[in-house]
Amino acid sequence: MKHTVTNTKTSTPINGRVNDLHKPRSARTGKVWLVGAGPGDADLLTVKALRAINSADIIFYDQLVSEEICALFPKDTPALYVGKVKNNHSIPQEDLNQLLVNQAQLGLNVCRIKGGDPFVFGRGGEELLELRKAGVEAEVVPGITSASGCSTYADIPLTHRGIAQGCTFVTGHAEKTLDVNWNALAQLNHTLVFYMGLTRAGDISDNLLAGGVAADTPVAIIENGCRKDQRDIITDLANFPVAVLREKVKSPALIIVGKVVNMKEQLQVEAWIKEAQLSA
Ligand code: SAH
Repeated sequence: MKHTVTNTKTSTPINGRVNDLHKPRSARTGKVWLVGAGPGDADLLTVKALRAINSADIIFYDQLVSEEICALFPKDTPALYVGKVKNNHSIPQEDLNQLLVNQAQLGLNVCRIKGGDPFVFGRGGEELLELRKAGVEAEVVPGITSASGCSTYADIPLTHRGIAQGCTFVTGHAEKTLDVNWNALAQLNHTLVFYMGLTRAGDISDNLLAGGVAADTPVAIIENGCRKDQRDIITDLANFPVAVLREKVKSPALIIVGKVVNMKEQLQVEAWIKEAQLSA
């Protein structure tokens, strides 16, 4: 698909340069597809993602790619797991970047598939940067990010007229302390979605409460979203860290904070009323 790219500093279309990146440099150079697999349900794969899977010479997949999606990998295509291994250490990112570069330089079509969307807390930008630096042709295939998939499957619209005019995605992951402006977040008065927030449940709750968010603000914890064993736990901001422990919530889980969470009950009540009317 062609699109115009303009350098805003010079107002010069730089289309030609960008398009060149999409042409193989030589007959022997492969290409890396950084593919978003979505949150789990294979029906949420894009047509483009499936094409990349089916045309790959080799596939590298990580922890968040569901079994259902792995089952779609062609049987004769080597598929290597590059997520966490037994002793819980991931393959270092630099080694993985180098692996992708090496495989493409061997002339292979490489499908590097990851959960959700590669550009949403997925290190897709880092991998693309390294591939571009190495002069390897690379293309990102966007996927349905878990905020979108999990909320939809849980009957929670991320925005809703009159309830939330916006939505912010935040990561709960940090090497040490979270670098988040909690006061600013607390004042947004719209939907907040926390990725990788399970181990920081206490920090998230304490900081938002301290920033002035009401203690009874509804919170949804969605475990294994868009998979057969999806579990939705509805609680509130004050009680959410306890709920994580009490319900023994496991990763992957997404945390949605905001009044839109109440829509779940409203939507379900409407469905029950309709069902009761039809069966009466
Ligand atoms: N690139 C991914 C996010 C990777 S960060 C995306 O766009 O979705 C990993 C975090 O994503 C997990 O800790 C969890 O918070 C969330 N996540 C990913 N898949 C999920 C799923 N199926 N159910 C619930 N949360 C999920």
